[in-house]
Amino acid sequence: MAKRVVVIPGDDAAPEAMLPVVEILKSLNLDIQWTEFPSGGEGVKQYGSRSAFDQALRAAIDQSDSTLFGSTNGTTGGINHLRWGKQTFANVRPARWRPGFRSPLKNPEGIDFVIVRENLEDLYMGIEGDLQQLASLPVTSWLTRKPLDTTPTGKFAIKVITEEGTRRVVRFACELARKRKARGGKGKLTCTSKYNMLRESDGLFRRIAEETAKEYPDIRYEQYIVDDFARRLVASPYDLDVVVMPNLYGDILSDAAAGTIGGLGLAPSGCYGANYAYFESIHGTAPDIVGKHIINPTATLLSATMMLDYLNFPDAVARIDHAVSQVYADGRALTVDQGGSASSSAFCTAVREKLANVR
Ligand code: ATP
Repeated sequence: MAKRVVVIPGDDAAPEAMLPVVEILKSLNLDIQWTEFPSGGEGVKQYGSRSAFDQALRAAIDQSDSTLFGSTNGTTGGINHLRWGKQTFANVRPARWRPGFRSPLKNPEGIDFVIVRENLEDLYMGIEGDLQQLASLPVTSWLTRKPLDTTPTGKFAIKVITEEGTRRVVRFACELARKRKARGGKGKLTCTSKYNMLRESDGLFRRIAEETAKEYPDIRYEQYIVDDFARRLVASPYDLDVVVMPNLYGDILSDAAAGTIGGLGLAPSGCYGANYAYFESIHGTAPDIVGKHIINPTATLLSATMMLDYLNFPDAVARIDHAVSQVYADGRALTVDQGGSASSSAFCTAVREKLANVR
């Protein structure tokens, strides 16, 4: 049976990457049924209202095997359903350098690691409010042992780390380390959080990670406080294999990880749950370059490749992977962020030309 994939091109410059990438995917004639949505503003117009558009997106996602998602500035819906609705708890963000990627490091050879970011908890649950709301609660600092002063005008945000949420993402990371080890990887899991200051929440993340990693004696385990880890990420990214961390650190440090290989234009991601996965580049909508058609589609294309892997099209994965490597090694059709002058679609044309030669 054909796999069903929803394509949501996203907002600002994101569709300028997504649309030529979808053309590449279609040219492979895979057994995939594509359902393509318009971008945010256009979608609301076409469906008559915000809620009708959101409902159509949700229904299409529910009937699909996976979604390829362009970045959103909030105008295109779907993201909450893809994340919390589908419980896609593990955000996998690989950083692998290839010859031709414009890394700022002197010697980027051998950078090949994956950040697994917990995707549903932490400070990203959207629970914030006025400080005064906490006045009636017994909130005390473990540091000063004093109750929280709720008299100043201010805001709070809630950070939630659960045992179950941590255990499932760490297991996922361990399984990934095992898969990578079977293909010649280091067989190592690194866990990072701010467990010295956030003793309860990040302390729990650390404790559950340690416990869970013991179930995988074939995987080496190490842990660092997140500020120390940030330095290691830049100074010796080659030492890393699979790194697991809570949501906020994962969001920030995966942009840094992308920086080590040559920038946001090169960094894909996939968000996996028990029964569903969707794929999106880690970059945002790049509003500063909208309409210029210079956005680098590599991140979107490699995210699509992760999706094809999830949907079990291994030959297509190998072909695209090879074609991307060739385009970069060749260096003649690179986008501006990689030191070239090719447009987004010229880059994709070069990939298609390489694909035509790789069977
Ligand atoms: P978000 O918070 O949604 O992740 P952001 O604030 O991190 O978004 P981005 O949209 O990721 O912002 O863009 C950051 C910078 O990187 C911008 O200058 C943007 O143009 C550039 N950028 C992002 N993605 C790409 C890409 N694929 N190709 C070229 N430049 C990009």
